[in-house]
Amino acid sequence: MTSDNTRLRIAIQKSGRLSKECQQLLKGCGVKLNIREQRLIAHAENMPIDLLLVRDDDIPGLVMDGVVDLGVVGENVLEETLMERQAQGEAAEFNVLKRLDFGGCRLSLAVAQDADYPDVKSLEGKRIATSYPWLLKRFMDKQGVKFKSVMLNGSVEVAPRAGVADAICDLVSTGATLEANGLVEADVIFRSKAVLIQSAAELPLAKQAVIDKLLPRIQGLQQARE
Ligand code: ATP
Ligand code: ZN
Repeated sequence: MTSDNTRLRIAIQKSGRLSKECQQLLKGCGVKLNIREQRLIAHAENMPIDLLLVRDDDIPGLVMDGVVDLGVVGENVLEETLMERQAQGEAAEFNVLKRLDFGGCRLSLAVAQDADYPDVKSLEGKRIATSYPWLLKRFMDKQGVKFKSVMLNGSVEVAPRAGVADAICDLVSTGATLEANGLVEADVIFRSKAVLIQSAAELPLAKQAVIDKLLPRIQGLQQARE
């Protein structure tokens, strides 16, 4: 990574559900990007901005550690990382600059279509597969339901069929994936959108000036889409 500390560093998802809209957002702000496949970093041609293209899971940590100045990430990943880092006593400061109008989804409990689920208490003592153990635990603690967490970073939706878990806690947008796996949404535990976050570290004036230029443009773009 360049050590040029005068250019604003923004971390976005390299490839996935947020990447296209993140790139469009920057483009809409007038940032000219030349993103080449397989590159970690992309320099804007017309503004002092460097993009870091990474996995979405790495974005909150990069911002909280002050490695980048800004990041765009789903609130689900942000909140999960926040709880995990707080529990481990790691740096967990950041500021939310803007809740964005894309990346909408919900983190939900889902059970087999033929399961008996009057309410969340029916999951007492059950195994729940998830990539979001902290968000799940917070919800279940609030409900007073004890459960066993089965940590999976992928293929969560096949866990019940595979006999690995009794239920799942996973991201849902249309519900098509759940249905394809014989599951049904049972309870929403967290509603998420993409957010633009900033490191808590104080920025040099030149970098702050770039942010001050970008923010109203983002505001304008979002208003135009409403
Ligand atoms: P990466 O390789 O960067 O780790 P990923 O597979 O973890 O990618 P994606 O599936 O691309 O992540 O999802 C990125 C984010 O998009 C999610 O964390 C969430 O905030 C948002 N999102 C919106 N709709 C959905 C959905 N239906 N399923 C999953 N994520 C969604
Ligand atoms: Zn991810």
